[in-house]
Order: sequence, then structure tokens, then C-alpha cells
Amino acid sequence: MEEIGQWPDRALSAFEPRTVGETALAVSDRLAATQSMVTSMTILSRVLNLAAEIQQIPAPTYEEARRAEFMRVRFAAEGLEAETDALGNVYARFPGADREARPIVVSAHLDTVFPAETPLTLRRERDRMLGPGIGDNSVALASLLGLVWRLAEQGDRPRGDLWLVANVGEEGLGNLRGMYGVLERFGDLPRAYIVLEGIGLGWVYHRGLGVRRYRIEVETAGGHSWGHRGSPSAVHEIARIITALTEIPLSTKPAVSLNVGVAEGGVSVNTIAPSANALVDLRSEDAAALEELARMVERVCSAARRPGVAVRCKIIGARPAGEIPPEHPLVQAAQAALRGAGVKPHLGIASTDANAPLARGLPAVCLGLTEGGNAHTTHEFILTRPLEKGLRSLTALVLAVAS
Ligand SMILES: [Zn+2]
Repeated sequence: MEEIGQWPDRALSAFEPRTVGETALAVSDRLAATQSMVTSMTILSRVLNLAAEIQQIPAPTYEEARRAEFMRVRFAAEGLEAETDALGNVYARFPGADREARPIVVSAHLDTVFPAETPLTLRRERDRMLGPGIGDNSVALASLLGLVWRLAEQGDRPRGDLWLVANVGEEGLGNLRGMYGVLERFGDLPRAYIVLEGIGLGWVYHRGLGVRRYRIEVETAGGHSWGHRGSPSAVHEIARIITALTEIPLSTKPAVSLNVGVAEGGVSVNTIAPSANALVDLRSEDAAALEELARMVERVCSAARRPGVAVRCKIIGARPAGEIPPEHPLVQAAQAALRGAGVKPHLGIASTDANAPLARGLPAVCLGLTEGGNAHTTHEFILTRPLEKGLRSLTALVLAVAS
């Protein structure tokens, strides 16, 4: 365990003059470099400390209010106008130089996949921080403030307003409801929607993977395994439905996937099952292909309906697919900003808040800010040092898009 606040001292010693014969100019160059490194290291420490504070506030999807209020107070403490909308999204305005210029929206989701009672123990090691939600998405929320601090330190002001948004409803069954609220507010006005995730430094997600989820429920009268023999069983019916789903041909171009993640039902070994259900997850990089697959799933359910067998096919999750091309100026600018920070960029597809603007044809990318792993588990961790590059490239991207 180590206090992250000690880093600036180590950074200083690395720049100490080694030989007596060094020229005054070289020394003063080194001092200037030291000075700027100290400042950026201080911002890094502040961001990490803030991430640790945020991580300690439970924020399951639909229960983000405490964490949202924390963010609102932190934005206000920086002198930014900060407000919360009816959904629970927090907005802070960093004023641009020209009020008439189009704004930029930079967002990070507030919610985590962890139930409220999950112990949020956080451990700090030399180069890592470990704890549920630290990467997804506490460090990204803290980086919204990190961006403000960096802009202030550099004395840079984006041309249009920079809107910092801490939004609800990204994970699981949140279905991007927070981001839809953000879209409702800003529409096609922003020059770009930049969505932040803690983990995945180097990735530029300019394609949104579409997702549709179903809960298929079967009900029958049930009965005794001998006494009511011949009566329909919900377990037998769901098994047939699942078999039919696995026989749907899946295209590889555009790629689609179908997974029955959960199947359950029945009462006891000698009872004809009165109820059973299955959870189905469909994905595709192409909106039309996803829609077509969803229609086939619904057709399988319809075909299974008969007297004495009730089948319901409920949508329990939906994220639209969408993308901007690699040649899009925003994708190009994101890659250039990463290269400028010494990070090799990769283009990718993911299911994030960026899906919502991408599906409406609006310019959006999702970026990772540091390296890490085990997201969505209690063994989640981030590497602390690469975050410096993440913050540097984010700041450069915002300024590039704004100009
Ligand atoms: Zn996330």
C-alpha cells in the first residue's frame, strides 16, 4: 500500500541535475519540465483521490442519486453551473470562449453493476487501485473534473461550451435511459458526444454494438406427473423453444449473436411444470440484422403458443446499433490525441452510452482512460500511471474538437 500523494516527490528526484557542469539553460529547462510534470502529477493524484471517494458511494442502476449529488457538489465547488435533471443526470457547464459556438458533451455514467450491499473495499498498491467499480466507472467520473483541472492549468478554453455530464442508467437494465435524456436535451447541437469509460485506454469505440434482450415465459396448468400425464409442461415447452432458437441461422457478416443465458422453471421431479422461463441476449453490429434476428425470436415464441400453453416474449433490454466511419473527423481526432499522448490507438465496437447518439447518426465516440481489468467483478482494478496519458489525450481531443 502506498499513498498516491507521494508521486510528485519521486517525479522531482528524477529531474535532479546529475553533473556540476550542466549549463544554467539546461537546468532551467529541466526545472520548467519538472514544474509542468509536478502540476500534471498533482492533477493525476487529485483525480485518483477523487475516484477513490466516488467508488465508496454505492450506485446500482436506478439508485445513483447519492453519487449524482456528490458529483453535483464537486462540479459546483469548481465554480461551474451544475444541475440535476428529472432522471438524475448531473450537468455542469464549462463556459466556452464563444457562446454562439456549438458545444461539446463529455459524459461518464454514474451507475455500477453492484447491488447496494456489496462491500466497496478499496485497496491502493504502488501502481494499482483495486475495488468494485473503480474502473467502471469511478475513475471516468473523476476524470470529468480532471479535464476541468487540466484546462484550467493550461489556460485553455474550448471555443463552445463544454458540458460535463454524469449520467444514470448505462449498465444492465438501465437501457441507456440517462443518455437518452442527455440526447433529448442537446439533440444534434453538440459538435461531438465523447463518452468516457475508465478502462480501455487506446480504444476508440466509434461503433455501437446493438443489443436486444428477451425474457421468454411459459405457463401451463401443470399437474401430477402420472395423474395428469399428457398435459403440457412448461419445462418441456421452454426446452423446445430454446432448441428452436439455437437452430436460427446466424449471419457472420454482419455478425449477430444469440445466447440463452438462463433457463429455469419447474417445481419438483414428479410435478408437470406450470412455469418456466429463459433469458435471451441478441447482439449485432448492424441495426437491420438485429431487428431481423429479434423478429425470428418472436416468431419462435408465437409458434409455441397453443391451447393450454401461454408464451410471453418480453423485451427486457434494448440498445440500438449505430456507427460513424473510421474517416469521420471525430474518430481521426481521437486517434491523433491518443498518438500525441504516446498511446497506440485501436478502433473498436462496444455497447456503451455512445450507442444512443450513434444510432441517431450523431458524432460520438467512447474512450477508455486507463488500463485495468476484471470489470463487473469485485476484483476490478485500474493501473494508475496510464491515466496520465488518458487525461492528456482527452484534454487534447476536447480542444481539437472545439477548435
Ligand atoms: Zn461502464
